[in-house]
Amino acid sequence: MNEEPTPLEAIVKAEIATSGPMTIHRYMELCLGHPEHGFYKHHDPFGPEGDFTTAPEISQMFGEMLGAWVATVWHGMGRPDFRLIELGPGRGTLMADMLRVLQPAGAVPEVWLVDTSPLLKAEQSRRVPGANWASSLAEVPTGPQIIVANEFFDALPVHQFFFGPEGAREHLMGLDADGELLPGFSAAAPNATVHALDWQEWSPLGDLVADQIAERLRDGNAAFLAIDYGYTAADRPVGPSLQALRANRQVQITDQPGRTDLTFLVDFDGLATRLAPLRSWVTGQGPFLVDLGIGHRAESLVRSEPKNAGAISDAFDVLTAPEEMGTLFKVLAAVSEGVAPPPGFGEGPRA
Ligand code: SAH
Repeated sequence: MNEEPTPLEAIVKAEIATSGPMTIHRYMELCLGHPEHGFYKHHDPFGPEGDFTTAPEISQMFGEMLGAWVATVWHGMGRPDFRLIELGPGRGTLMADMLRVLQPAGAVPEVWLVDTSPLLKAEQSRRVPGANWASSLAEVPTGPQIIVANEFFDALPVHQFFFGPEGAREHLMGLDADGELLPGFSAAAPNATVHALDWQEWSPLGDLVADQIAERLRDGNAAFLAIDYGYTAADRPVGPSLQALRANRQVQITDQPGRTDLTFLVDFDGLATRLAPLRSWVTGQGPFLVDLGIGHRAESLVRSEPKNAGAISDAFDVLTAPEEMGTLFKVLAAVSEGVAPPPGFGEGPRA
């Protein structure tokens, strides 16, 4: 395929030519967030013909299960007036599906959507009329609240370090002799052989948001649910996890900058540690949804829409099967002290 260089590629190359090789963090920041040419800024990557499909776009069952989760947790908080906050809401589908379940359950939250994409904000306002917007969690008022994030943390820029015999090196984006993009490494920082031969990935913004969430949970009567492509100690990947996806295909990270999605795997043990000593729970997306009763929901949908039985059963499989999203996607919940333990982590659906 001989594709035209993207406008962002020229911007990246010019910055490297004048300032030297850039961190992968800076590269991701430009590729995903450049105000004009960033991946999330200029087009809608979702949907069947898009670059990737997220769980809420696969089936309404996903958002309905999360809505049931929010309703149960809200009961466990003592049914206060509350805010429902979503980080990185994409097209707004998840929030719309959750609200459809919450209203009949008597939970009518003040809705806040935290996003940085003007284009997606327009999509969100069509699906979630009456929502409030913020471009960072810090702008959202405190008080009783439930914070939900699906595929938010994996889209934030990361630094990548390689720990070898000479010390720590940072993974960088530079230029080859022909001026084309070429990944490489910084010089080794001495005295940094704290890890064995190993890769480490670090998202400063991910850590900052986790710390802000921890503070809100420590304030009291709040809960947090994060679902993401990620790992725990049991299935930690060997090597770097950053990957590039375009039109549902894996490509090089240097391929079509600004038109290619870049994501990494979220370290769920790291996230839980950051929230400690608050109580948190981690499981796979499959067990979580099954525990919340997605099987029963699929059956009742099939009864009311027998023509769609095949599609409903396919969506159930994609969301829950271990070889699909069931294991690769992890779920973390954390709650304030005094809030009842959340459903979905092994005790079966609660009535
Ligand atoms: N949760 C949605 C979308 C996931 S894609 C779904 O499951 O379909 C990542 C989302 O995070 C997009 O909406 C993107 O615009 C948003 N985003 C990326 N960086 C962000 C940041 N720094 N702050 C807030 N939102 C961000």
